[in-house]
Amino acid sequence: MTTLIPEYITCAICGKGSNHRLLGSSNQFGLPDLDFRPPPMMRDTLPYWIQRCPHCGYSNTNLAELLPQAEERIASSQYQAILKDKKLPTLAISFSCFALLIASEKPINAAQAYLHAAWACDDDRDDEMAQRCRREAINTLKTLQPFNHDEAGLWMGLVLIDLFRRSAEFQSAVTACSDVENFENANEVSSKICTFQKVLIAQKDTKAHSLSDAP
Ligand SMILES: [Zn+2]
Repeated sequence: MTTLIPEYITCAICGKGSNHRLLGSSNQFGLPDLDFRPPPMMRDTLPYWIQRCPHCGYSNTNLAELLPQAEERIASSQYQAILKDKKLPTLAISFSCFALLIASEKPINAAQAYLHAAWACDDDRDDEMAQRCRREAINTLKTLQPFNHDEAGLWMGLVLIDLFRRSAEFQSAVTACSDVENFENANEVSSKICTFQKVLIAQKDTKAHSLSDAP
């Protein structure tokens, strides 16, 4: 089961406090999705992976910690626009704001945060906003290409395939599959994912799929 720990956290930016629930523990039964979204019950803990200050809008995995140049980045028009975006689900706003704060120093984590924002939109059945968040993730990952043939590179390559497929960009998804298949550190799991992705791409399937559905 999932356990949550209530905690009153003081914001590192504005110094005001707010109540949050931290993830104590959870579990995973089954295999992840093709973009590595974990299976239940961990899957449903997404709202507890990010915190947003209700007073100043600062978003971080821990509001008590200060991110580099956070104050000026929060004040930027881009950050404020996301914060006030009424079309974007609340949780997706938090992940997108966080992505913007870390994009310069930690682009891989920023891409991951945009992916998390897309999952939040998926849960809200908001396809339009999910696609927008996936586009942000794609744009961030593209700045890191060509990917290194290491663990992080393989993760990015595999995630990129799914981002393209879920966005109905099938030709780009096929190209991303070929890239991963040529990785020096390709393994049994990555081969299995690529094979399954190619089946889904051929069927023009844009839905989420678990690795447990792979043939
Ligand atoms: Zn604050």
